Amino acid sequence: MTYDYDLLVIGAGSGGLAAAKRAARYGAKVGIIENDLVGGTCVVRGCVPKKLLVYASQFSHLYQDAVGYGWDAITPSFHWPTLAQIVDNEVNRLSQLHTRFLDQSKVELILGQAAFLDSHIIEVHNSSASHDTGKRKLTAERILIATGSEAVLPDIPGIELALTSREVFKLPKQPKKLAIIGGGYIGVEFAGIFNGLVTEVIQIVRGDNILRGFDEDIRTHLQDTMRQRGITILTETQLDRLEKTTEGTVLFLKGDAAPATLTVDAAVLFAIGRVPNTADLGLDLAGVAQTDHGAVAVNEWSQTTQPHIYAVGDVTNRANLTPVAIDEGRAFADTVFGNTPRAVNYANIPTAVFSQPEVATVGLSEAEAIVQLGEKNVKIYRSTFRPLYHSLTGATEKTVMKLVVDQQSNRVIGAHMVGKEAAEIIQSVAISINMGATKQDFDNTMALHPSTAEEFVTMR
Ligand code: NDP
Repeated sequence: MTYDYDLLVIGAGSGGLAAAKRAARYGAKVGIIENDLVGGTCVVRGCVPKKLLVYASQFSHLYQDAVGYGWDAITPSFHWPTLAQIVDNEVNRLSQLHTRFLDQSKVELILGQAAFLDSHIIEVHNSSASHDTGKRKLTAERILIATGSEAVLPDIPGIELALTSREVFKLPKQPKKLAIIGGGYIGVEFAGIFNGLVTEVIQIVRGDNILRGFDEDIRTHLQDTMRQRGITILTETQLDRLEKTTEGTVLFLKGDAAPATLTVDAAVLFAIGRVPNTADLGLDLAGVAQTDHGAVAVNEWSQTTQPHIYAVGDVTNRANLTPVAIDEGRAFADTVFGNTPRAVNYANIPTAVFSQPEVATVGLSEAEAIVQLGEKNVKIYRSTFRPLYHSLTGATEKTVMKLVVDQQSNRVIGAHMVGKEAAEIIQSVAISINMGATKQDFDNTMALHPSTAEEFVTMR
């Protein structure tokens, strides 16, 4: 049987783009289907625009810090619609760049909504006014599902008043008072962004601390520091319902330490996790099995229960991070089209939360190391200090750095940090941890002075 394509990729996000371009480089005839801007969550409404907002929000702290360095105090003003527009322009520029890269790689971009009709046939429906091509049927020898994930919203009264990270970039007006539900990556990052932009932020967390799964010292230090910076964090608090009144949006809360109600001017941002984007894909018609929350079930080669259909990225709900999706996409293409079988290495994935201050981590937390190795086999090195930068700003904010070491082998099995440039520092530390560096190797490395990073080689 002949097919229209050697490979059809559904979803032009990080994983899909990486796989499509690599497969085309191996000589495959590739089409990629997308129903929104090329680039996916990371480029269009995630990592990239989020980090731009983080940069924007840091200026208010810099203005304050500058006074300690002899600059005159000023009262800066900020215009949200200007920032939102500039960020949107940059997103569009990047999306067009990715579209050009597809073109240069000879990957055909097909605009529209894809659904399986059977395991080799995909129907693409493009109903947008500018490109109404109706429904087309396309066939492919192999298919890659890379449709990503979407924010979850709870089923509570008034949920239509909620925002997710999808809409927050497009707010027409800066909220004066913003409630954020959830204490994970997105909640913590947007709390820092809006706090820096001088919106009053109230973060509502159902547990007793933010960032579940991260090292306890890191979680506690970040939570304390966010509070010092003026963010209200209501822990062990649940949201019952939302109501619109003339005053704004009212949140009805449950929790011993929480007020019964809280009124914000407009916005309630929900960041309570994401679920794989598999609705309406017709996976049953293709014979592709799903696991929890609708994730596509895959083996170590990203192969689904239908041997010629593969899936990468958030839709598989493995490690939901952009670099992981990219590597899964490339590993798939190397294996299937490049004759160089390669499975992704999920060990020691570094990750950062672009909170303020920043968090970054690689390897095991203290608690995970104790579970795996037993308490007596784990040695902890910890350093808490005021960074040199703050010696003149008057701020008391501290940096925390921590190493987790396997006592038996002396290998460093975890590195964690809260503080300025944590992501930049931990990315480099991740190389040594991945190579199996011992604490002695860290100690044998000359310090780079004066820096924050030198603390990782001087901890005793
Ligand atoms: P997370 O899974 O990181 O955090 C979800 C938060 O919501 C947790 O605090 C969780 O509490 C809470 N929660 C879950 N369900 C409910 C509920 N029903 N009611 C109230 N609270 C609830 O999700 P995010 O949405 O913040 O981010 C999604 C994913 O996106 C991340 O996990 C990450 O993979 C990715 N991401 C990565 C970024 C990066 O690399 N910097 C940035 C942004 C996103 P509890 O802890 O008690 O479960």
